[in-house]
Amino acid sequence: MDMDWIITPNVAQYKKADWKNFVKKVPNCTLEQAKQIALDDPLITFFFFCNEGMVLEGPVFVEHGAFKPDDAVFFSGEPWYGSAPQCDSYRKSEEPLSHDAYTALQELTKGYQRYHSGNMTHLNTGHDAMQKVALHQTPKACILCCSDSRVPPEIIFDQGLGDLFVVRVAGNFADEDDTASLEYAVQHFDPAPAIIVVMGHERCGAIQAAAISFDEASVCQKDVEDFKKHPKASDNLNNLVRQLKPAIENTKPTFQPETDEKYKQRLDEAVRFNIIANVNSLRDNEVIREQKTFVIGARYDLDLGEIEWFDPLADQGRWIHAYLPTE
Ligand SMILES: [Zn+2]
Repeated sequence: MDMDWIITPNVAQYKKADWKNFVKKVPNCTLEQAKQIALDDPLITFFFFCNEGMVLEGPVFVEHGAFKPDDAVFFSGEPWYGSAPQCDSYRKSEEPLSHDAYTALQELTKGYQRYHSGNMTHLNTGHDAMQKVALHQTPKACILCCSDSRVPPEIIFDQGLGDLFVVRVAGNFADEDDTASLEYAVQHFDPAPAIIVVMGHERCGAIQAAAISFDEASVCQKDVEDFKKHPKASDNLNNLVRQLKPAIENTKPTFQPETDEKYKQRLDEAVRFNIIANVNSLRDNEVIREQKTFVIGARYDLDLGEIEWFDPLADQGRWIHAYLPTE
């Protein structure tokens, strides 16, 4: 995976530097291994790599400040550089994930793993939990997801009362009202939810309706017939479906007429496109940017009950799986 590193030759973090953000030292490393370690841990923002041995003042906890050639030394937070001809510094070019966002994402993922393995805790669902949050809420995450009865976020993430601030609408897209709800959440709760998850799902009926409305020729005939058995769509429903048009327009069929399998793949591409488009639009939102809320996408697989995370910046070197619990 390519990643642009901001490389500063002949510097280390030393002397007046804040060693509180020291993460770890890895000896006998190659530079490529050090980069990989930094990429795999979203808390690491930079590291220095020793070409020669040196002794620094300050970090007595790192073997009395002594460093050997091929030591890689990793840090979180803001870099602080000091001249040291024995080593070079490598900083990730992407914005680091905040500690709170990392923690929230880990908690959601662990909840999802409990759900998926059939070991749900149902924490924060009883009478005590109800009373605890009656006057005050500090949800850990916001979820924008489809209204579909098979994708309830509180169950899928094994969360309880007061844990999630949820906006649900068929097709999981953020129009003005949905965006306003999310803006409210990140501005008014203290601490603010550190992440927003845009969760779409396999075989989304809203996406399917958009495909039938805007590109009927490419839809498998059985689905068109099934769809037409329903009463004519209301103006409100037509308006909703119109907002999913870009997801269909941006996932053109590869050939005509489509086979059933190709059609299913195309619908799933539209589900993914719709998630990413809404992640991007929320990332561009001024209020959400100001609050430094991390926005991430998720696709729920109805057959397997699995979640696939994705991040539109992944192709620029940010690896979403690096944020997730390893056990
Ligand atoms: Zn849906």
